[in-house]
Amino acid sequence: MSVLDGKLVAEKIQGELRLEIERLKGEDGTVPGLTVIMAGDDPASSSYVSSKSKLAEKLGIRSELVKFAQDVAAAEVIGAIAAANSDPLVHAILVQMPLPGHLDSWKILDRILPEKDADCFHPYNQGLILQNRAVLFPCTPCGVMKILGHYGIDPCGLNAAVVGRSFLVGKPMAAMLANRNATVTLCHSRTVDLERILREADLVVAAVGKPAFITADMVKPGAILVDVGINRIENEKDFARSCAPSQFESFKKKGYAITGDIHFQAYAKAGHYTPVPGGVGPLTVTMLMSNTVELCKRFSRETNSK
Ligand code: NAP
Repeated sequence: MSVLDGKLVAEKIQGELRLEIERLKGEDGTVPGLTVIMAGDDPASSSYVSSKSKLAEKLGIRSELVKFAQDVAAAEVIGAIAAANSDPLVHAILVQMPLPGHLDSWKILDRILPEKDADCFHPYNQGLILQNRAVLFPCTPCGVMKILGHYGIDPCGLNAAVVGRSFLVGKPMAAMLANRNATVTLCHSRTVDLERILREADLVVAAVGKPAFITADMVKPGAILVDVGINRIENEKDFARSCAPSQFESFKKKGYAITGDIHFQAYAKAGHYTPVPGGVGPLTVTMLMSNTVELCKRFSRETNSK
């Protein structure tokens, strides 16, 4: 069994992005610009947004955070999107999910212009993925494909089980694997006999949001396990059930541990696996930067051709 090291892959891509950003600046002073819009104070969202800002700064991307209170009106969020849509210095817009419950996420996300849609959530961009003619992809499934690609894992012909069907992760992941000629089963909470499907899968992508949901007995020996889940564990009982003993010292020190949807004991049966943390997570934020740079390059090409 071998580790698919997301941190390493992310650092390699970041190195390439840094060069690309330097090149763009050198050519005509263009600086890729990203606007992140957030509403509320969800601690996980705040931490994701802060890591996005930090990485943008490190790479030389101009990033701006527009932050609203939890009880913000939809019109205010839509107004911020409209302002970013019409700002030529903003090439990519991301609305941090989840939005507060009183807001209709679709109505808000649909306002982002497809050509500034950093996470590819717009129906136009999602449609291009289904038609297998997309160039940009949602950050998390895109990160998964980058990890597989880096380690020379070709999905062609693999029996793939994607567990979770959110529009952020599971659905585009399933479409992207099918586009790469995997035979895909998209599983969810109503799936009958999930364990049988998993035991037959050569490749499992877990995006459920339940700690240690997939256990060693559900995994085919030699399978490739990709764990998208990020679960925060705060008490010792849950820690003992779902986390590797090697995390204990850090758990005691920090008061919490982060674990995935796949139980660590399944790793021993796998051919390859992505750890949590250090697997898919570092790629998600890196692919956001990559999408920002790509959108910026497209904008420059279109402006120059006018
Ligand atoms: P989500 O919108 O809550 O979707 C969860 C999915 O899991 C749903 O499709 C749900 O099925 C399915 N599910 C729930 N219980 C199930 C069960 N018993 N059997 C089979 N399927 C079940 O979550 P998400 O936004 O996709 O995120 C999933 C996880 O990935 C979370 O832990 C999140 O924090 C993490 N995440 C990580 C990254 C990263 O960078 N690593 C990025 C994004 C998300 P139904 O559709 O039937 O309800």
